[in-house]
Amino acid sequence: MLTEALPKRIRYPQAGIEEALLEGVLPMSRLPRLADALLDNELDNANVPESVAVTLRFSSDGPGRVLVVGEAHFEQHWLCQRCLEPVVLRSGCEIEMILSGHKKVLEQLRNDQDSLLTDGDLVDTADIVEDPLLLALPMSPKHEDCDPAFEIPELIEVMPDASQAQDEIEEGRQRPFAGLKRLTEKD
Ligand SMILES: [Zn+2]
Repeated sequence: MLTEALPKRIRYPQAGIEEALLEGVLPMSRLPRLADALLDNELDNANVPESVAVTLRFSSDGPGRVLVVGEAHFEQHWLCQRCLEPVVLRSGCEIEMILSGHKKVLEQLRNDQDSLLTDGDLVDTADIVEDPLLLALPMSPKHEDCDPAFEIPELIEVMPDASQAQDEIEEGRQRPFAGLKRLTEKD
């Protein structure tokens, strides 16, 4: 269990040199935008998890910049969009982000590289994980394998059509025999 709280702020150039590995929890109170998004989950008794589990590994990535790689995850109650019952889902994100205190350093990165401009040598651990976690929230929460009462009426609706089609096929098959019967009756 990761129960130790992560440091609020890290002197990340030093963490990069030391290739520091941080594991711990970040209280949800430090992630207010994520907490707001989680409360908007259509449940009557909406609540948010106490904390997010986080792993971050720092390494030097060139002059004036540090790479942070890791992951963050938590479990949350949602309203299943298929059966409308509560569902507990794990949300998580992978993190790969360049930290720098210099705008010019970050401007030289590839467009698809996540980055964070810091104020000096300190980075707030919440700032590293909050945006990636917001992006990882489920668009349409569902049980992985739920038994929706809804889908049964759909099935019944389909059945009359299917049996009609079956009748048509049988009629089609019967016609030649009917013709044959008429022919034999003539004889
Ligand atoms: Zn469901």
